[in-house]
Amino acid sequence: MKGYAMLKIGASGWIEKERPQCGPMDAICRPLAVAICTSDVHTLWEGAIGERHNMILGHECCAEVVEVGTLVKDFKPGDRVLVPAITPDWNSLEAQAGYSMHSGGMLAGWKFSNFKDGVFSEYFHVNDADGNLAILPSNISTVDACMLSDMVPTGFHGVELADVQFGDTVLVIGIGPVGLMSVAGTALRGASRIIAVGTRKNCVEAAKLYGATEFVSYKNGTIEEQVLEMTDGKGVDKVVIAGGGCETFESAVKCLKPGGKIGNVNYLGSGTYVTLPRVEWGVGMGHKQINGGLMPGGRLRMEKLGALVAAGKLDVHPLASHVFDGWEHLEEALFMMRDKPADLIKPVVKIAD
Ligand code: NAD
Ligand code: ZN
Repeated sequence: MKGYAMLKIGASGWIEKERPQCGPMDAICRPLAVAICTSDVHTLWEGAIGERHNMILGHECCAEVVEVGTLVKDFKPGDRVLVPAITPDWNSLEAQAGYSMHSGGMLAGWKFSNFKDGVFSEYFHVNDADGNLAILPSNISTVDACMLSDMVPTGFHGVELADVQFGDTVLVIGIGPVGLMSVAGTALRGASRIIAVGTRKNCVEAAKLYGATEFVSYKNGTIEEQVLEMTDGKGVDKVVIAGGGCETFESAVKCLKPGGKIGNVNYLGSGTYVTLPRVEWGVGMGHKQINGGLMPGGRLRMEKLGALVAAGKLDVHPLASHVFDGWEHLEEALFMMRDKPADLIKPVVKIAD
């Protein structure tokens, strides 16, 4: 089979590989549509997870099941499925402890395009099919379904980690596709003011659609100066971080009220330390909590988020700003994600109807 692989840090291309084997609890699937992620860019060009040789890239898709193992109960060949980017081993101790995304070790629930071949391939392997796949609702298009692999679950996880409550004033730092879903999740959770940090026109428009009420540009001075001025020096209740770098945590702590919470889902692709401002962290006693997490995967999560889209409560379509037709455009879509033209939110490649 053919797959689009990271050959080494900074180099990629199509390669031939054996079709993966299907274990008793597994499924083999073929993509119906795939989406490119900023994480693919971090992995391939920044070497953020280290060197990988001939590893097929990609972790966002929806798919058709072509084969299932003998112990798989709920899926069969021909089923159209949602595929989460994170596919934990549900019988692991980490999953039993409530952290399935770290099943087998830190971040090890992230298997596609990290520890095994990803989904930019004619066929791909899904471990624990009953625990990880979900049936694609019939009224969700294959393009929109790709947003449920990673963008929705990650953006929403930032909201969960920040513990957004009714009436909160929330700052969302970064309004790429993940941050846009954090804005949407923040609005669904009943926030009052939603201050979004970002400048790209398409993203600002989409953020307004998803419920952002005010905007700040990190290019117009520090985020904290602007946010403190907008909140009469009080700061915000919660911060979701979906963009920036190690230094962004300093701004986030400075923007928070005492007792506030930060939910980070940004992938820190470079730098060694995250430092905290001593005074604004209440000289160690400000009750300002900092949480960071990999998105939860698995079937229940996919079914619930899929239901939200199927019921018309969340429209993910505006995220798919650039849609291509056919594998031959995959590389173009990937390079587009790296180069981030101003009107890009998310590139998606349709493979089959
Ligand atoms: P993106 O690059 O499209 O969006 C990031 C946004 O942050 C951009 O709009 C950018 O302008 C903005 N930004 C850059 N520097 C900034 C700064 N100093 N201050 C404020 N904003 C700044 O990326 P995305 O696809 O939306 O993903 C966001 C992050 O989430 C990426 O790092 C991605 O790898 C990560 N991610 C994490 C998970 C997870 O499970 N935790 C899953 C998927 C993606
Ligand atoms: Zn992704």
